[in-house]
Amino acid sequence: MTAPVNDNRTGTCPICQKEASASHKPFCSTRCKDVDLGRWLNGGYAIPAVEPPDEGDLEEALREAFQSGEMGDPDSNS
Ligand SMILES: [Zn+2]
Repeated sequence: MTAPVNDNRTGTCPICQKEASASHKPFCSTRCKDVDLGRWLNGGYAIPAVEPPDEGDLEEALREAFQSGEMGDPDSNS
């Protein structure tokens, strides 16, 4: 039986082309791993900075609806 096949075919860090570290495959270091992640994030999330409405706004809208009486309270309506 032979040793498990090393899947890292190139054996070099895709960021700096240095020899990859066994503990940071396929990168040579945590730093290069972070660099790659940063590139990926910057490229993959190139979305215009539009902030989606968060749940706090929805909650507030509901509260306003209650206060304005649009949603009747069944208990006070017997
Ligand atoms: Zn590297």
